[in-house]
Amino acid sequence: MSAPASAIPGPRRLLRRLRDVMAAPGTAQSRLNQVVLVIAADMVAEVCSIYVRRAGDVLELFATEGLNPEAVHKTRLRVGEGLVGHIAAQASALSLSDAQSHPDFAYRPETGEEIYHSLMGVPILRSGRVVGVLVVQNRTRRNYAEEELEALQTVAMVLAELIGAGDLVNPSEFLEAEGNATLPQRAEGVRLADGVAMGIAVLHRQAIEVRQLVAEDPEVEAERLAEALERLRASVDRMLARPDIAIGGEHREVLETYRMFAHDRGWISKINDAIRNGLTAEAAVKRTLDDMRVRLNASGDPYLRERVLDLEDIAGRLLGLLNGEPEPQTRELPDDMVVVARAMGPAELLDYDRTRLRGLVLEEGSATAHVAIVARALDIPVLGRVDGALSRITPGDPVIVDADNNQLIIRPGEDVVDAVQLTLAARAERKAAFAALRHMPSITRDDVRVNLLMNAGLLADMGMLAESGAEGIGLYRTELFFMVRSQIPDVAAQADLYARVLDQSGEKPVYFRTLDVGSDKQLPYFNHRPEENPAMGWRSLRLTLDRPAMLRRQVRALLMASAGRQLNIMFPMVAEVAEFDAARRLVQMEVARARRQHQRLPSQVRVGTMLEVPALAWQLKPLLERVDFISVGSNDLLQFFFACDRGNPELADRYDLLSPAVLGFLRNLVDACARADVELSLCGEMASRPLEAMALIGLGFRRMSMPAGAIGPVKAMVRSLDRGHLASYMDTLLDLPDHSVRDRLMAFAHDHGIAI
Ligand code: PEP
Ligand code: MG
Repeated sequence: MSAPASAIPGPRRLLRRLRDVMAAPGTAQSRLNQVVLVIAADMVAEVCSIYVRRAGDVLELFATEGLNPEAVHKTRLRVGEGLVGHIAAQASALSLSDAQSHPDFAYRPETGEEIYHSLMGVPILRSGRVVGVLVVQNRTRRNYAEEELEALQTVAMVLAELIGAGDLVNPSEFLEAEGNATLPQRAEGVRLADGVAMGIAVLHRQAIEVRQLVAEDPEVEAERLAEALERLRASVDRMLARPDIAIGGEHREVLETYRMFAHDRGWISKINDAIRNGLTAEAAVKRTLDDMRVRLNASGDPYLRERVLDLEDIAGRLLGLLNGEPEPQTRELPDDMVVVARAMGPAELLDYDRTRLRGLVLEEGSATAHVAIVARALDIPVLGRVDGALSRITPGDPVIVDADNNQLIIRPGEDVVDAVQLTLAARAERKAAFAALRHMPSITRDDVRVNLLMNAGLLADMGMLAESGAEGIGLYRTELFFMVRSQIPDVAAQADLYARVLDQSGEKPVYFRTLDVGSDKQLPYFNHRPEENPAMGWRSLRLTLDRPAMLRRQVRALLMASAGRQLNIMFPMVAEVAEFDAARRLVQMEVARARRQHQRLPSQVRVGTMLEVPALAWQLKPLLERVDFISVGSNDLLQFFFACDRGNPELADRYDLLSPAVLGFLRNLVDACARADVELSLCGEMASRPLEAMALIGLGFRRMSMPAGAIGPVKAMVRSLDRGHLASYMDTLLDLPDHSVRDRLMAFAHDHGIAI
């Protein structure tokens, strides 16, 4: 028998009363009318109001105790308008003793609220979306207690379920606002992992319904939670033991954070607190998640925002276990599936059978999101930031993920399907043809050898070294290992990774680029201050020269890993010879230190620089006396050369690398390196496109590094090229006043049968 409500403390008493209201017969509207009465009485508030979100981002007053009843269904505020709109826009609570002095206060005469001074409001959250706002108000200027806010948030959770049931606002209202659901649709997105895929949409973990919110017995709930946590930990261990994960690499590092969450005392004790307040274990998990989600999202810290996904992932698993759901791997799923999610943690992606997973669509996400990093390692195209993907796609819809062109096609027409099928078949054919070139030398028709190397950044990329026929790793971006971890890797962890890279590359050379962080590559545990121009800011070598311990540790790890083998160290973003000298001195000191300690040294230590900042090209004489090699970073070079942000889509086509200015600049560099007999290569995206690579060879480049997938097409171009012919033609282009010589080069390629 349950205790009488009056004997039960605080939020539990209120929850019980609400449960009775919910269980009583009547419409959703009549329940809402009762709810405001119960809350106002229990919290000793003169006003309690509920606003529900409608299509068009409008919040409508649906029920009130205390405000003018005439205002119900009349007062409407836009999200962001007034205090109610502010709560919805920020998805966070507000507690004010003098509401009218808040800058966002908006007076609505029809409500008669001018006499109420204090206000406490919370968002009503459902699956991370604000579906309404719950507010209490008092006449006096009072400060609401922390426990009162806590109680209001718990109540909001109950209301979320009532609103989500769809009886108050018909869900089709939102669908209609977003267009006809059955016609083909195109949606824009952002490419997070390359490629094109076609398949059947699977909506990733439709939010688990928590039906029973109020618990009879907190002790039983606590036991259920403990049991589910036990099973959760076992399932995370199983996931980490999977053969494709267990071999290690950065994605494993990412997944280790799951183990951390599954054992995190802070998180678990918050859930237990909510259970003690009267919620069921499921409701407590959900409530804690909503709370943390809002807090982490509001922090503005990209690392913490990323953690939200990990937390959602793990909380979703826990809810599934509490609900007795089967593990995701055992769900019935189509053979060619495209998974659609609001956001996703990397472990969730790995739950899907890799052999049937074709693509991934996310409503959120960034290129540095952990799921994108893992997807790239698995070679799955990912399209991110697709607005409203979940509401526009119905499970079972055919979809095309065209990440290469930043678009998603939902329910494509037959003609589009046919066209994409042809594209995919042609790609597969080309891939097979390029694979056949793998063991063929990269030599032009007039016998000029061009070394093709590949870029890498994840251990998972290393498998492509043999598969692509690359002659080495021309750029190893060491920062990715630092970016996916929750703390800075120590020397031993770094040395272990670098040694594995070298083990896998065998006799082929690897050019390790020292940490290139800052700008768009932020380290989660490093305090990057906001900068007005981050690309030109405190980043890369500038940062590591100012924090030499970081660079020293990295060099130490590289020396350890390379014992008995060749070590190539390359510095990024060098702007002047003095910076190169400072960095090289640090390497020399570390070599001397290792020698003093009788550590086994590399067979050879070569030190070179990236050329990404134009200023360096004006110091070539002293530079070439010092470096063992130079590699042009065309991605950054282009943005500094033309003063043109490389990440700004508006400027994407503004300047062309195939312009006389860039080609002339590169020609000077080629000539100077040749005279000084210094190895020169180029490792930016420029080398990955056959036409651009052709131009580079025409200028005299004999070495390039590119993503593994580009080696085949570039090699096919090299083998069809007569370099002597091209070189003389290019001499005629360098002094032209044109914006670009792309068309001319393309015509040359066509006329001479060059495979572009
Ligand atoms: C470049 O700038 O061309 C380069 C290779 O470095 P990243 O793309 O890593 O900045
Ligand atoms: Mg760069």
